[in-house]
Amino acid sequence: MDRRIGRRALIVGGTVAAAGTVALARDELRRLWWRVPGVEKPRKEGEVDYRGAEWVAASPANWRRADRPEDYGIDMVVIHVTQGSFAGAVKVFQDPGHGAAAHYIVGKDGRVTQMIRELDVAYHAGNRAYNERSVGIEHEGFVDRPQDFTNAMYEASARLTAGVCARYGIPVDREHIIGHVEVPGTDHTDPGPHWDWDRYLGLVRRARTARA
Ligand SMILES: [Zn+2]
Repeated sequence: MDRRIGRRALIVGGTVAAAGTVALARDELRRLWWRVPGVEKPRKEGEVDYRGAEWVAASPANWRRADRPEDYGIDMVVIHVTQGSFAGAVKVFQDPGHGAAAHYIVGKDGRVTQMIRELDVAYHAGNRAYNERSVGIEHEGFVDRPQDFTNAMYEASARLTAGVCARYGIPVDREHIIGHVEVPGTDHTDPGPHWDWDRYLGLVRRARTARA
């Protein structure tokens, strides 16, 4: 890996030698080397990271192109509730003026739509570092309406999260699967007090074991 970064350093530019601190330059390069033409991972229009998901593209204004987990490690899933309908969430994530979007939306009926690739950084947590390290999953409904959190939703979301955890080696626990409310600096309260964390983590664990 080091050797490859070294070679990329020569290609990316002469600023590296002038930068002085080799460690800093290395860190920068680790995040940039994939931008060199021909290095970036191939992307196909409409491709999804989760087999059960349907692709609908979010506006590029609501996420940042990246090459995770090569440039930023993924060690977290952030759980959200939309405070609105499934269609409403899709619409705002397509709106370049919204300034935010999650990777996935899970509906009350269990359907899953992916709007941003996992390799890209979605603006969902309101915290740059947490956006860079996490996958964001929205759930249709309102935080004060426990009836919105259906069996179909819990089960579909748990399968999705189990897949994310499997792909990046993320432990299935409350340190790594968190609510938006737990992101430092946030003023959001989702998923709210009616989200059943014990039940959800149990379902994720079961789905994770079934995958393995
Ligand atoms: Zn949220």
